[in-house]
Amino acid sequence: MTENIKKLFSSEPIKSAFAYIKNDEEHTLQQQLELVQIPSCYNCEKDRALHFRSMIEAEGYETYMDDAWNVYTVIRGTGNGPTLYVSAHLDTVFPMETPLEITRKGNIISVPGIADDTRGLAEILCLLRAIREAQLKPVGDIIIGGDVGEESLGDLRGMKHFFKENRDRVDAFVSIDAACPVLCYGGTGSYRYKITFHGPGGHSYNAFGLVNPIHAMGRAIAYISEIRTQENPKATFSVGVVEGGTSINAIPSACNMLVDMRSDDKDALISVEKEFLTCLEKAVQDENDRWIEERKWKQGSIGKFDTEARIIMDIKKIGDRPVGHQPKDYDIVPYVAEAFEICGITPDYMPSGSTDANVPLSLGIPAVTIAGGGFGGNGHALNEYYDCTDAYKGVQKNLLVLFNLIGLSGVSEPQIPKR
Ligand SMILES: [Zn+2]
Repeated sequence: MTENIKKLFSSEPIKSAFAYIKNDEEHTLQQQLELVQIPSCYNCEKDRALHFRSMIEAEGYETYMDDAWNVYTVIRGTGNGPTLYVSAHLDTVFPMETPLEITRKGNIISVPGIADDTRGLAEILCLLRAIREAQLKPVGDIIIGGDVGEESLGDLRGMKHFFKENRDRVDAFVSIDAACPVLCYGGTGSYRYKITFHGPGGHSYNAFGLVNPIHAMGRAIAYISEIRTQENPKATFSVGVVEGGTSINAIPSACNMLVDMRSDDKDALISVEKEFLTCLEKAVQDENDRWIEERKWKQGSIGKFDTEARIIMDIKKIGDRPVGHQPKDYDIVPYVAEAFEICGITPDYMPSGSTDANVPLSLGIPAVTIAGGGFGGNGHALNEYYDCTDAYKGVQKNLLVLFNLIGLSGVSEPQIPKR
């Protein structure tokens, strides 16, 4: 543990901020419940973003909203320090029509999205109040707020947009996401595809002999399932969703599937993607060839159908989350960890994850994803819950993370080197 963190932890301004955060616990929770009631799925985060923006403004901070709907405020430092960007994501995995009824039993609150990442947003508001009330003056600048596009098919669009505009401005990034003592310091990359197979379609009996898009997709899935990847670096693939078809007695005219591939290693990811694309080509070729053979002896019987028709494949890359690597003992990670430890919280290290931090990490900007206080369970499921027991401790810990990195004027130096 560095002298810096000891000095910071025992300083009067931090003690006073910690006391404020503890007292603010119920207020923070009420804001979490207020925000969770605003549906916010991917590409539909605007209402929640606007509301969150008004909540930041109500705390007396000036706000900015970019074209992607990322919302933030800037806390100016004393000058010449590094710049830290801190954010929680505004979107949830749940579609807009998901019922958002809150049930509470003691400290357990259940409603979709309550922890991931509505907790993060509520904590940002609490941090802003604590910084204001304890008059904490950072050495460097803190950009702090909420971002869009972290979940589902969001493809990190908020982060990609922000860093496109602010790449040279930011020296480190901290994402506050979900709830439990996680310290994630790497980014798993992922590619996602939507593949649509088209054919002419027809009667299952009368048009027998036509190419069948579902058969082609079935072949593709069989080939994909036989791809072998290494254990180290780990690379994965999965056909996650299939849909299509018209009727049980029809040769379908279309079907599609959604496929996800992941790895912590860029080359391994590119290699599994290459094999996947080969599987698709082979599947379509096989399906087309097989029926051309068949038609040689069936000529005439299917004459009124378009027997020359082939399977047409539409390959759409719908996700590209960049790989970001960072060793555990590197750069900001130990400084984040010591803030956890001095607060009596043992970090639950995650070498990789698929979070907002992927984008800065892929650009060589030090970044971590850390959870907020309390405990979140059944994330991404309709029975998601949040246990708010001693939740304030997580907010205190995150305040300390921020100021250990950015420096507290008159008390401690920033631990982020200016890039
Ligand atoms: Zn999350």
